[in-house]
Amino acid sequence: MTETERAENIMRFIYALRSKGVTDAHVLRAMEQIDRAVFLRGVFSERAYEDTPLPIACGQTISQPSVVALMTEALEVTSRHKVLEVGTGSGYQAAILSRLARRVYTVERHRPLVASARAAFEALNLSNITCLASDGSFGLPEQAPFDRILVTAAAEDPPGPLLQQLRIGGIMVVPVGQSDHVQSLIKVRRSETGFDYEELRPVRFVPLLEGMARE
Ligand code: SAH
Repeated sequence: MTETERAENIMRFIYALRSKGVTDAHVLRAMEQIDRAVFLRGVFSERAYEDTPLPIACGQTISQPSVVALMTEALEVTSRHKVLEVGTGSGYQAAILSRLARRVYTVERHRPLVASARAAFEALNLSNITCLASDGSFGLPEQAPFDRILVTAAAEDPPGPLLQQLRIGGIMVVPVGQSDHVQSLIKVRRSETGFDYEELRPVRFVPLLEGMARE
């Protein structure tokens, strides 16, 4: 791909995000700066700028860019925030978050995905991301509390340990519902007195599974 082709692709990519309702200038800039092709392999990297989910290793998927953008927007991330992402996958969503947050922790149950995501972060010089192999349904107690938590796999309910690791005043965005069905993207806000839940939109994610994957 020539530089001109890449520039045209990025322009179309950003236009597609705007037409899907993404308006936040910071989010759009992060999406413009992070090259999604770096998170894809082989033939799929040529389709990096299509607004579609694509297969990655370990039978998982990189999310649709407009869904990544809308989830990031819903998370209301600022440069003061420490963010936890559950479900690193390709690492693309974590890379977008890293442009907006102070520090990003991202956890994944498939070790090969952790290795390839780390390589991508290094290639892009993203030094404020810590990527760990662990079962994210328990969160990351040693780094809690978090200002923001983003779950990119569907849980039947927002996991209790994640709710507990959210700072008061913090926001968590999580797809909730049975796998293989349409799920709802839920925005949870923690206040002094409890949790407020807002339903954002229907989404479809792979399930949040327990335990580390056996490779
Ligand atoms: N955010 C990713 C896409 C996520 S796909 C991206 O930008 O590419 C969902 C990921 O969640 C998968 O890689 C899956 O292995 C992972 N996952 C599922 N259950 C998990 C758990 N309990 N802990 C950590 N990761 C989990």
